[in-house]
Amino acid sequence: TRWVYTFGDGKAEGRAEMRDLLGGKGANLAEMSSLGLPVPPGFTITTEVCTWYYDHEQQYPAELAAQTAEALAGIEALVGMRFGDAENPLLVSVRSGARASMPGMMDTVLNLGLNDVTVEGLARRSGDPRFAYDSYRRFIQMFANVVLDIDHHYFEEILENHKLDLGLHLDTELTADHWRAVVADYKARVAEVSGAPFPQEPQAQLQAAIGAVFGSWMNQRAITYRRLHDIPESWGTAVNVQAMVFGNMGEDCATGVAFTRDPSTGENVFYGEYLVNAQGEDVVAGIRTPQHLTIAGKQKNGSSLPSMEEVMPVVFTELDRVRGVLERHYRDMQDIEFTVQQGKLWMLQTRTGKRTAAAALRISVSLAEEGLIDRATAVARIDASSLDQLLHPTLDPKAERKVVAKGLPASPGAASGAVVFSAEEAETRAQRGDAVILCRIETSPEDIQGMHSARGILTTRGGMTSHAAVVARGMGRPCVAGAGELRIDYRAQTMTVRDVVVKAGERITIDGGTGEVMLGAVPTVEPKLSGDFAQLMEWADGIRRMKVRTNAETPADARTARKFGAEGIGLCRTEHMFFDAGRIVAVREMIMAGDVEGRRRALAKLLPMQRDDFAELFRIMRGLPVTIRLLDPPLHEFLPHSEAELAELATVIGASVEQVRQRAAQLHETNPMLGHRGCRLGITYPEIYEMQARAIFEAAALVAGEAGESVEPEIMVPLIATRKELDILKAVIDRVAGEVAAASGREVAYLVGTMIELPRAALKAGDIAATAQFFSFGTNDLTQTTFGLSRDDAGNFLPAYERQSILEHDPFVTLDVEGVGELVSIAAERGRKTRPDLKLGICGEHGGDPASIRFCETVGLDYVSCSPYRVPIARLAAAQAAL
Ligand code: ADP
Ligand code: MG
Ligand code: MG
Repeated sequence: TRWVYTFGDGKAEGRAEMRDLLGGKGANLAEMSSLGLPVPPGFTITTEVCTWYYDHEQQYPAELAAQTAEALAGIEALVGMRFGDAENPLLVSVRSGARASMPGMMDTVLNLGLNDVTVEGLARRSGDPRFAYDSYRRFIQMFANVVLDIDHHYFEEILENHKLDLGLHLDTELTADHWRAVVADYKARVAEVSGAPFPQEPQAQLQAAIGAVFGSWMNQRAITYRRLHDIPESWGTAVNVQAMVFGNMGEDCATGVAFTRDPSTGENVFYGEYLVNAQGEDVVAGIRTPQHLTIAGKQKNGSSLPSMEEVMPVVFTELDRVRGVLERHYRDMQDIEFTVQQGKLWMLQTRTGKRTAAAALRISVSLAEEGLIDRATAVARIDASSLDQLLHPTLDPKAERKVVAKGLPASPGAASGAVVFSAEEAETRAQRGDAVILCRIETSPEDIQGMHSARGILTTRGGMTSHAAVVARGMGRPCVAGAGELRIDYRAQTMTVRDVVVKAGERITIDGGTGEVMLGAVPTVEPKLSGDFAQLMEWADGIRRMKVRTNAETPADARTARKFGAEGIGLCRTEHMFFDAGRIVAVREMIMAGDVEGRRRALAKLLPMQRDDFAELFRIMRGLPVTIRLLDPPLHEFLPHSEAELAELATVIGASVEQVRQRAAQLHETNPMLGHRGCRLGITYPEIYEMQARAIFEAAALVAGEAGESVEPEIMVPLIATRKELDILKAVIDRVAGEVAAASGREVAYLVGTMIELPRAALKAGDIAATAQFFSFGTNDLTQTTFGLSRDDAGNFLPAYERQSILEHDPFVTLDVEGVGELVSIAAERGRKTRPDLKLGICGEHGGDPASIRFCETVGLDYVSCSPYRVPIARLAAAQAAL
């Protein structure tokens, strides 16, 4: 078996498509090398070795050693240096790289191959002992941390002490001798903590570093990240061993990271940061303030430091050329890492850049307009769920804001919340339902879960490519990074700027689009849905087959949904209209009534109110279908609870409080979810559905009489299990329709159908479709009744089910395609057999979930219906499902 793939010198054994085998980093290093871009030579040990390693008690396949030695000799031949050579030592980096990019999860060791002898060789060869010892101390610290698990703070402390003794502030001020002394102390500290001298043998260093990369696949941070991002453990990581190039050899050296387009806005401008005379992750770590790549970037961000475009114009031009090559080749925005050694550019990484939802839209739309991709690809590339970020409010421009500090606009969106200073605190408070802003000097991978729990993230150090910024953008959390005027004191639990002190728990607002930090909670406004958003949606609408409706009963929700492009209402829950103040008493009166006459009297009070509700919805949805579900919940949900409510009701119906209490007790049910609800109410109290049908038809006739088109009401009877139930209730509805038509002189076209939410209904769909003119899959209840579990109680055990992989996803979020999905398929098929033009839709929570929408497309549903804010997501997901 081939376990090792080499790259370098304009060639490579791997390709970008081999990401599963070589990991993302290795595959793209190979690809860049084949493209003729300047990549330091190296080789990739495949992810299959990682899998083999964990399958064989952390041993390696037998052929690996020879293959590695051969590949290393290949690097030596290309660069003309030898690994471990006392005079001309080859140094390498050992880098992890999984299939999916896992930023910051797996650690990299640079300058490997240095020891007490080779460091002198490096000093002589380069003529720069300072550089050699700077590299050595970096290597000791990284190797100790990654391989020997010795914390960074041991080394930071030593370095601080040296600087203090010397009266120096910046690393760059230390001389070769200073670093030599630091190195001696570092080695002593390693020996002390690990109980063994710092390993001097380069081959042993290399083996240990490779082992550490494989080992880190199972560290806690990596496991957490995989869990949060649904990355299977079985994928494994690859290891890349690559000749070092040095950005820390002097003023004509640099290291940097860049995006081929602006990752915040998606604008087609080169966006990046670099540091002169620096190595590796100095830029990301926020040790020094990075400088901008371009003059425009520098100006836009008000930086006083010179840009690379000015400082190293020749290298910058080369880098800009590489940018173009990569974009044309990958046809997408790239995130790149590079190093400049003595005026020569080296590419160290490229990958598809993470971007905000807004940037993703901008990039997809402009790449399509530039002709690099087609429209379908543009539509396919947007993560439908991420649209959520664009649909949520931003700060009200007219609202008063007390801006106390400004940082970098690292991830857009506005958020308010209570200040917390640790990731754990963010998690605990978020679990209690508090909105919090996580405020840190800087963040690290250990903070990921806290960042996830927070509404927004604020850091006082670090740039646009700092950990906080990158992770927040990925998660869609608003983030302000590097707000340097703020001083965070973790011990005192305060954040100070000039004379303002913000204590833990106080509310602040951050605007990740501008970088502003404000005191208090600032009001927000609805987002604009024009430009790229509208363009992409138009392309999506041209592709999708399924219609998208909304679940709405209030005029406000209906209007929002229309604005988001809803093509009608798929579920109007009439009971929600009954809870209004001023109505609930009439509803209770109806429930309490002991006979038909009493119920009719109370229902007569409700009729005009329901009619007005429907008329309003019909006006908003003019020309579109509106599905109205007749009363569904168990009656006892409307019962009075407090003594005051009991007393009020007693007065209205002229009974004693005791009588009211008794009637309420009679209505109590042991298992209401499976009790007296849905069409069972219609069967026992037909006058309720009669009133609702009358309200619907009168409203429809009324609106039809006004100017313009009317709506087509689709009356939906809930919880049908047998055709007979529907036959009886449809007869009631049809009779009322006839009566209203006769009285108003207006025939209103309408449909009568049912919700399929019981397994029996799904199985008997062929029968039921003889009466029903449409089915709407009520997948919330269908999931409950298929699994036989109650959604309200599932919190106690579902997490354990997910942890033990009994269920892959929460079946209430993503449709259980195998089980519930099979019932949906059966019902669709049997229903259509009886009635070929049977209209099919879904109105459960799943109607707004992209994975579930994909399933709906395969079953051939006519539409999905979801909450208003999910309508654009559903439009896009429906298009992607049709591709
Ligand atoms: P991560 O996955 O955390 O980004 P990388 O393997 O990309 O880790 O390494 C981090 C940084 O280390 C790179 O961006 C680059 O600056 C530096 N680096 C890695 N390999 C080399 C190399 N061969 N020569 C010089 N610098 C390197
Ligand atoms: Mg890293
Ligand atoms: Mg990297």
